[in-house]
Amino acid sequence: MPSPIEEIKNRLDIVEVISSYIKLKKAGANYKALCPFHSEKNPSLFVSPSRQIWHCFGCGAGTTIFDFIMKIEGVEFGDALRILAQKAGVELKREDPKLRTERKRTYDICQLATKFFQKQLAESKIGTEVKEYLLNRGITEESIEKWNLGYAPDTWRGLSDFLVSQGYTGEEIEKAGLAIKNEKGNFYDRFRGRIIFPIFDLNSQPIGFGGRIFEKIKNSKFQIPNEAMAKYINTPNTMLYDKSRILYGLDKAKLEIRKRDFAILVEGYIDVILCHQTGFPNVVATSGTALTPYQLRILKRYSENLLTAFDMDIAGDWATKRGIDLAQSRGFNVKIITMPKGLDPAEVISKNLENWKKLVESSKSILDFYFETTLAKFDKKTPSGKKEISKILLKVLKRIPNRIEQAHWIQKLSTVLEVREEDVRVELQKIKIGTPEEEIETKELPAQKSRKERLEERLVTLILKSPENFSLILKEDFDFFSPKISKTLSYFKKEINRLDEIKPPPELADSINYLFLKSEVEELPEQNLEKELKTCLKEIKTLEIKNRLNQLSQEIRKAESEKDTSKVQELMQEFNSYSKSLNSL
Ligand SMILES: [Zn+2]
Repeated sequence: MPSPIEEIKNRLDIVEVISSYIKLKKAGANYKALCPFHSEKNPSLFVSPSRQIWHCFGCGAGTTIFDFIMKIEGVEFGDALRILAQKAGVELKREDPKLRTERKRTYDICQLATKFFQKQLAESKIGTEVKEYLLNRGITEESIEKWNLGYAPDTWRGLSDFLVSQGYTGEEIEKAGLAIKNEKGNFYDRFRGRIIFPIFDLNSQPIGFGGRIFEKIKNSKFQIPNEAMAKYINTPNTMLYDKSRILYGLDKAKLEIRKRDFAILVEGYIDVILCHQTGFPNVVATSGTALTPYQLRILKRYSENLLTAFDMDIAGDWATKRGIDLAQSRGFNVKIITMPKGLDPAEVISKNLENWKKLVESSKSILDFYFETTLAKFDKKTPSGKKEISKILLKVLKRIPNRIEQAHWIQKLSTVLEVREEDVRVELQKIKIGTPEEEIETKELPAQKSRKERLEERLVTLILKSPENFSLILKEDFDFFSPKISKTLSYFKKEINRLDEIKPPPELADSINYLFLKSEVEELPEQNLEKELKTCLKEIKTLEIKNRLNQLSQEIRKAESEKDTSKVQELMQEFNSYSKSLNSL
C-alpha cells in the first residue's frame, strides 16, 4: 500500500492545486507564474505537469506540492499534509504518531475552548446579557454564529476544569495560552468574564483568542483589578498563535480581497465583523501590532492595494505609521481612509452605513495624505517650516519604489515649497531609510547558491539539453563534483540511452526532476553546446582544485607549526600534484 504522502501525490494534480492560489500561464510543456514568495515583474516560477514539481528560478523555492502549501499557507509539514489529504480525499490514520503531536493537541484544545465559550454565550444566564450587548453593538445573530463569538465565564477554572475533564493537562492548557499558572503551581483561566473573539488561521481553525471585558463583571471577585482595566486581552504567542503573523478575519476575507483587488485594514475585532456584515467582506485587522513583513507578504498573495482605516495622526501613532511605511516600501498602493476624529469604523457604521461607504470611496493615496497633513501642520512660507515639512516628506518620497512615481512627487514638493527641484533631489539623496523589519526579511531569504553549485547545475542542464555530449564527461572522475551531482551523473551514466524516460530513484528524484525542469525552462545557446559544456567542466575543476589547494596550504601551515616534517612533506607532494593538474587544465 502506498504511503499517504504517495497517495496524495498520485491523486492530486500539482497544476490544479497551485492554480487555486496563483494565476498560471501555459509556457510550452510547463506553466509559469509570478512568484508569490519574492517580488518580481517577470514570471520565474514554473510548474511541470509531467514531473509534478514546481520551482522558482528567482528565489529558489520549490519543489513538491507539500513545499508549496507550507510556504503559501505559512504552515508546517503536518498541516500541509492535512490540507492536501483533505483535498485528495485521503484519510490519514488517527494513530499516525506524527499527527498526534503536541501541535495537534493544541489545535484540539483551541477547538474545544471555542465550543465551550460559544455554549456559555448561548446557554448561561449572563450569556444572554452578553448577547444583548453584542446585538446592541449592531452585530447580528448570524455574525455571532459565523465568527464563533463566545463568553468566558467569570470564574477561576470554568474552562480549565472542562478541558481537564476532556483529557488535557494544566500544562497543555497553559501552553495553548488559555490558562495561567500561579505561584503555588495551580492553573487558572486566562479569560474570565470576557466576550470571546476566537482568532482563526488561514484554514479557519481557531488558534488564539481575543477577550473583551464585559463591563458588568468588572468588579467581581474573580477579577484581578489591574488586569480588569485592560479592555482587551489576547492569547500570548503559542506554538500556533503568533500575533505578528495573524490578520484577524483573513480566512474569511482572503477570496474577497483577491476578487475586489483590495483589502481594508482596521484595528478591532468588532470593526472587522461589522464591515463583513455590511458589504465589506474584504476587511481584516491586525492584532494590536504594526503591520509586519510577514503579514504583508501574506496580503500580497491576494492584492497589492491596501486601504487603512486607522486613526492616523502623523505626529502620533508611530507603530501604526511604521507598518504603513513598510507596506509602501514593499510596493503596496496604500490609501488612507480618513476617519472622523476619535471614531472607529464600527462606530461610524453603526451610526450611519452610508457615511462609512463615502469614507471608503474618498480614501486618498498615502502621498496625498502625508502632503495634506504635513502642510496643514507647518508653515510652508518660513525657512524652518520648509525644513520641517521636507524632513517628513522626503522620507516618504524615499520609500516610493517606482522612479517615475517618485519623480512626480519630487516635482510636487519643490513646487509647494517654492524651491528648485534640484535641491529636493540633493536632499533626498542624503536620506537613509531602513527599519529593523527589513533586516529580518533579508535573513529569511534562501541562501545563495555558490558559484560551484551554479556551474554544476548548468553542466547537468547542458547534458540534458544534448545527451549526445554526455560522452564528453563520461570518462571523467566524478569526484570533482559535489556528492549529489556526482551521484546524479553516475546514475545518468547508467541510463545514458534513455534519459528521457527514466524514473529516478527516490533519494535523487527531487533534485533530478528539478534539473530536468531547469533544462526545459532555461534558455541556452542553440549552438556550441559542446564548447559550453567543456568550458563549464573546466571551470568546475578549476574551482575544486583551488579549493583543495587552499585546504592543503592550511593543513601545511598547521603541520609546520607542529613541526611534523614528514606530514609537511607528504602534504607538499599532494599540493604540487594539484598545482600541476591546475596548470594542465
Ligand atoms: Zn520566487
